[in-house]
Amino acid sequence: MSLAAMTIEEIQRGLAAKEITAVALVKAVFERIKEVEPQVQGYITLCEKEALTQAEAIDKKIEMSVPLGKLAGVPIALKDNICTDGIKTTCGSKMLADFVPPYDATVVKRLKDADAIIIGKVNMDEFAMGSSTENSAFKATKNPWDLSRVPGGSSGGSAAVVAADMSVLALGSDTGGSIRQPAAFCGVVGLKPTYGLISRFGLIAFASSLDQIGPLTKTVYDSAVALEVLQGKDPMDSTSKAPQEINYVEGIKDGVKGMKIGVPREFFQKGLDPEIAASIQKSIEAYRSLGAIVEETTLPITEEGLSAYYIISSAEASSNLARFDGLRYGYRPEDFEKVEELMEKSRTDAFGEEVKRRIMLGTYALSSGYYDAYYNRAQRLRRKIREEFKTIFEKYDLILSPTTPALPFLCGEKSDNPLEMYLEDIYTININLAELPALAMPCGFSSTGLPIGLQIIGPHFSEGKILKAAYALEKDLNIVGKRPQWKEEA
Ligand code: GLN
Repeated sequence: MSLAAMTIEEIQRGLAAKEITAVALVKAVFERIKEVEPQVQGYITLCEKEALTQAEAIDKKIEMSVPLGKLAGVPIALKDNICTDGIKTTCGSKMLADFVPPYDATVVKRLKDADAIIIGKVNMDEFAMGSSTENSAFKATKNPWDLSRVPGGSSGGSAAVVAADMSVLALGSDTGGSIRQPAAFCGVVGLKPTYGLISRFGLIAFASSLDQIGPLTKTVYDSAVALEVLQGKDPMDSTSKAPQEINYVEGIKDGVKGMKIGVPREFFQKGLDPEIAASIQKSIEAYRSLGAIVEETTLPITEEGLSAYYIISSAEASSNLARFDGLRYGYRPEDFEKVEELMEKSRTDAFGEEVKRRIMLGTYALSSGYYDAYYNRAQRLRRKIREEFKTIFEKYDLILSPTTPALPFLCGEKSDNPLEMYLEDIYTININLAELPALAMPCGFSSTGLPIGLQIIGPHFSEGKILKAAYALEKDLNIVGKRPQWKEEA
């Protein structure tokens, strides 16, 4: 097995036993990148020199028996909306094509303190708006399982580089499903934590009341390790909260005996691919055989959430993106006469179509004549969604659902049809509106060999329980380590 295919768990063991070195690991990852990146197109920026220097420093620490951080030597890729001191952070936009932040996001600081090694910054839909990573101003990332298909989005780069062994760990951001949907499409584990569990300081905002950073990994165990490092209150983010569970690895192997799991029937109605439904059914049976109590239940808001999400997220986006005006931040056109012209030209030239669509939708929903009809109604619906989840969690420990209604679609298939693209989020957006944690993990493969994702949803701050349930299923299904076919050919 190539070193690049290792998990965090294996790296921790390998380094401790001195069987591998951080330098060998980083070299293997860059070898792999040279081999497959031309096809996958996952990275926007690579930091090879810096990564090797960092790896040498870790190996020195090991040699001198200096205590190591939890992610020592672990290669990591960061979504390009997470600010990195001295490394370009484009947000997938022409607007920020040359932006080099003078500071690190809190998550980046925490990763560095844990001795992780930054490999590079990965591709994404512009300002995290999209479900296919085709909205990037720079390039479209491909799905490593089938290069003619999309990797999902907006954290498509994060999911693709982990699936293709071009990084061991990646961070993504999830406003309405952007960690979980690409994780499902690329057959990796993606965790969207409870709102506030991970600091958003240094994450370029899309919709501040919904955005959350989270890890994409090869295994559930790795997700738990990453969360331990990333979580916690941050004085720089007033919405961040102190976690109730600090140690997610401890107890991860406890199993699901006696756990009560609800499966809302609304998730299995029209529009769901039959192969996905069959695969989720198998997981339900696996849970029953592991001793969990799985029951059908109801969650009527499933479909309504979609409209509330697109109103609220676009309203917040229109406000957050007002700062990109050619004066204070970002792209500035060469020729202009008046300041109004500067603003208009910079926004016209540097924002892509989807971003403009959201700004218009959001501005409209917030305008005085329509505020009550759209924004206020959406907020009311959001409260209702929270209540419904609260009620369901009085009865169940966790909820199980598909992550996406369909298998990874073909590149270009939905680009001209924004509404169809929005429907991709039907199972994921309500979780953001209710500020809940949810994890997407592979639970099987279609007859054409494409990954299928399962979603486990829990009450606020129940990440420990979610990870426990995910770990049990992952072991039972025994699909970890299955890799995209083309890799063997490469
Ligand atoms: N696909 C959703 C959207 O386009 C979700 C995006 C996200 O989670 N960042 O808004």
